[in-house]
Amino acid sequence: MKKLLILHTGGTIAMQEDPTTGVIQTKLHHPLLEATLSLPIEATIHTEELFNLPSPHITPFHMLQLKERIQQAISEDFDGIVITHGTDTLEETAFFLDTTIETSVPIIITGAMRSSNELGSDGLYNLLNAIRVAAHPEAVSMGVLVVMNDEIHTARYVTKTHTSNIATFLSPTLGPVGLINKNHIFFLQKLVVSEKKQSAPSQNQNKPSQSQVTKPSTYTVKSGDSVWKIAHECGMSMNELVSLNGIKNNLIFPGQVLKVKAGAKAENVSKSE
Ligand code: ASP
Repeated sequence: MKKLLILHTGGTIAMQEDPTTGVIQTKLHHPLLEATLSLPIEATIHTEELFNLPSPHITPFHMLQLKERIQQAISEDFDGIVITHGTDTLEETAFFLDTTIETSVPIIITGAMRSSNELGSDGLYNLLNAIRVAAHPEAVSMGVLVVMNDEIHTARYVTKTHTSNIATFLSPTLGPVGLINKNHIFFLQKLVVSEKKQSAPSQNQNKPSQSQVTKPSTYTVKSGDSVWKIAHECGMSMNELVSLNGIKNNLIFPGQVLKVKAGAKAENVSKSE
């Protein structure tokens, strides 16, 4: 029997519409905690309410906390993890988790476009599908997946495309990697070339050569860059990047030239002489 963990973080899936004012807001308790799900699979489900935040309020601090809880859950032998999240920043959290957690355990993120008591509410339905995918053998080693509206998307390519339509999550160019219907889950494609895996150094490559240590490349900061993004693109930890450049409070500005690891493959890296 699969052992699954559901982590609630907030969003419309955790909200209710006030029938008199029409305002959609967070309730003290997640409305789905009281819902009864009839699962078509055998699984034991543990549920935790990590946060109850609208997703624009989710900061990197919350993302880190979520990541740490997931890593702990992996060490506690959970077979799959489902996260419920507001849809506005769902893709950011999904991408963050995908790029920072190395695991074969399925991590599925879902949300809802309609709150729990609205007509055509999609929360409970999406949650059920996310649980089914988390327990599915083909979800293993697929990275972080987003399950919404009967589709499965990779965290790497998915994006929210519409404010209210329930078919809002799309992966332009690639399309969904899987489809879900009442009785079956079909995985249709797999990312065969993962940039993450490709650039992961082998044991020996891990050791920087003397020339790499002494001759770092440089990276010119573009607008919209963050320390985390640059560190990730250049295959460095945030600490390495911050201490190499004496960055204070993670503050960087467009046009700033940063020293990065030699051989970093990010777009606007140039080698120093
Ligand atoms: N504003 C909500 C949020 O992202 C929207 C949603 O969940 O769909 O928290």
